[in-house]
Amino acid sequence: MKIGIPAETLAGEKRVASTPDVVKKLVGKGFSVLLEQGAGTAASYLDQAYQDAGAETVDTAACFAADLVLKVRRPSQQEAERLQSGATLISLIESCAGMGSEDELIQTTVARGVNLLAMERIPRISRAQSMDALSSQSNIAGYRAVIEAAAHYGRFLPPMMTAAGSAKPARLVVLGAGVAGLQAIATARRLGADVHAYDVRPETKEQIQSLGAKPIELDLGEEGSGEGGYAKELSDAAKARQQQLLADELAKAQVIITTALIPCRPAPELITPEVVERMRPGSVIVDLAAANGGNCKLTEPDQIVEHHGVRLIGHTNYPSMVAADASAFYARNLLNLLEIMVEPGESGPTLKDFEADEITRAMRVN
Ligand code: NAD
Repeated sequence: MKIGIPAETLAGEKRVASTPDVVKKLVGKGFSVLLEQGAGTAASYLDQAYQDAGAETVDTAACFAADLVLKVRRPSQQEAERLQSGATLISLIESCAGMGSEDELIQTTVARGVNLLAMERIPRISRAQSMDALSSQSNIAGYRAVIEAAAHYGRFLPPMMTAAGSAKPARLVVLGAGVAGLQAIATARRLGADVHAYDVRPETKEQIQSLGAKPIELDLGEEGSGEGGYAKELSDAAKARQQQLLADELAKAQVIITTALIPCRPAPELITPEVVERMRPGSVIVDLAAANGGNCKLTEPDQIVEHHGVRLIGHTNYPSMVAADASAFYARNLLNLLEIMVEPGESGPTLKDFEADEITRAMRVN
């Protein structure tokens, strides 16, 4: 079976779906690996390293003609049209339950007889943890968001005592304590900030404390935990109460990292423009929900804007800023997934029926 690893074509995407280490393992399992020339270069993996690992470097068309194509981002229409009938493509598809007839990618892949498996649909069960790309990439985003905040903040994060004077630690608030938020808390603590964190799911309190941060507790009069460990959307009354109760906590912060998301819904608005106007000039808000509308209305996706002296950072692809490690984690996630997807055949490995395993069954998009 041939596995294709194309170059990512989405603007600004530096990751690649496999690394030389993982390619070596795939070749060892009997796969032929076809790498699109230069696919790993932006992530610092050069063609020669893949060739040494046993891959063949090919052009775009040959890469997309493989039996199994592994990508990071959802394929473009043009890429989908290169896939062969009977082939399987695995990538982050940015799918939502119920999406189907209106989605051009699904229409094209159904018409071409291509199987589409979405990495974001891997169930959050213990057996699938090593395949969970949402977690591996969110972890990186949480880390990188704090680095970004530190670079934009014109003061220290840790307390400083020097002969030339002393400085208090920055008060840093993390909103949303899921995978990205918890990593942001851990990273900010390591950098010495005074870290406070809030999540609408009460079960996060202990996790926040275990990382040495102070939980912010609000009484919203309503349960915030939804299905599968995710948050649910609050009623309008609870949303308003949340904004109001958070306002004083946020106005005191000098750095805010927001990560609050609700699956397939617009991101909740947690920081109002009035709160931003109350923050000290020079403060920084890194809004990880920028691609989903932002946790602050003032955030502009993929832009850095200033409002009343507060800098709002709206990058939408933090994992790509740590492309070598993000690719290595993603490639490992895919390798672990393939362990359960393939079985040995007379002429090399073959794909099992996707319906046979709850993980691949859940990943099917078309
Ligand atoms: P996510 O990216 O969907 O959301 C990020 C965080 O935002 C969540 O913690 C959520 O509660 C929070 N949030 C949403 N609305 C909010 C609001 N109005 N105010 C404040 N916070 C708000 O979440 P995620 O990081 O993907 O994690 C979701 C859950 O899945 C967590 O419980 C996590 O522990 C769990 N998980 C389980 C596994 C596993 O068992 N294999 C793996 C990864 C994650």
